[in-house]
Amino acid sequence: MANVWSGLIEEYRNRLPLEPGDPVVTLFEGNTPLVRASRLEERVALASEAVGVDASGTRIYVKFEGANPTGSFKDRGMTMAMTKVKAAGTQMVACASTGNTSASAAAYAVAAGVECAVVLPAGKIALGKLAQAVMHGARLVAVDGNFDDCLRITRELTEKYPVALVNSINPYRLQGQKTAAFEICDALGDAPDIHVLPVGNAGNISAYWMGYNEYFGHKVASSIEDSAMRLKPQSTKVPRMWGIQAEGAAPFVAGKPVENPETVATAIRIGNPASWDYAVAARDDSQGLITAVSDAAIMEAQAILAAEVGVFCEPASAASVAGLLALAAEGKVPAGAKIVCTLTGNGLKDTATAMENRGNIAPQVIAPELSAAVTALGL
Ligand SMILES: *Cc1c(COP(=O)(O)O)cnc(C)c1O
Repeated sequence: MANVWSGLIEEYRNRLPLEPGDPVVTLFEGNTPLVRASRLEERVALASEAVGVDASGTRIYVKFEGANPTGSFKDRGMTMAMTKVKAAGTQMVACASTGNTSASAAAYAVAAGVECAVVLPAGKIALGKLAQAVMHGARLVAVDGNFDDCLRITRELTEKYPVALVNSINPYRLQGQKTAAFEICDALGDAPDIHVLPVGNAGNISAYWMGYNEYFGHKVASSIEDSAMRLKPQSTKVPRMWGIQAEGAAPFVAGKPVENPETVATAIRIGNPASWDYAVAARDDSQGLITAVSDAAIMEAQAILAAEVGVFCEPASAASVAGLLALAAEGKVPAGAKIVCTLTGNGLKDTATAMENRGNIAPQVIAPELSAAVTALGL
């Protein structure tokens, strides 16, 4: 009989803080593709060679989180958060969102049978993500401000009303998200040497660091339970965490919050990250780094991933690969390293941005004849 994936809560139940009666809310998230990217290996080797560094023999994989039910890694956190909301009997959830959190919250609220309120920065949400929140029946409010304003309002709202907060400051979100690190170790047989991912509100880098440490048998500050620590270690090491921000929204690079964050990568357009301390610990304790890349480099990486790897991710996701290529050009990638880049979300959510710099993309119109098609294709 075929192995059927039953959602990440059932798959990793012994490593998650669940009570026996908790009603699992799932859309069968997780189990996303880990794709070897040999063309990226070539690019990294060449960029390194250009600065006199040997980066031969690397193995580079992309973890495509855009294959989750609502098209981003947010579903990993939402299955846990919504399970706990349901267990508590709360009737409504709320989130601030740059788009993907609201898409995920809205869908999982449907699965849980609760109401969902979404607080968005006006005019800054990709249409695909907005469509998801609308189609899943969320109540939307657009704020004349940025994500950080939205999060502040949502926090106050959920403190004063019987509404559960499902942003990543909800500790169950990170618990669910840490399972991506488990899947990577399970697939590779051990932890990679380097893990590269985009950093916005910094929940995900904190969650991966927690997951890698738990598989290694260590506890980190953001862990909220002990049971998993009694399990046998599943990896022999933890990776260096390389976090990538957009230049116009790089508070970790500045060392302080950024007032007016701006970037084409709207999912990481965040100036005051909620998980600041956990992310700094992930960077420092892993002997890793957090750096920034330009919007142009992000768009180029998105195009490379689509054309050379076969994965269409959104701009924020491509920041990880843009960062890896930039760090290779600085000679930072060691030979023989096993590297995983998280591609956090699906390119189909924001086709407008992807197509912006493509010039005239309308295909040539031909007569309905084979010969015309042959001529047009240059065969
Ligand atoms: C949420 C999100 C991010 C940023 O993750 P954080 O946990 O906020 O750092 C990056 N990319 C995509 C596609 C996202 O949806």
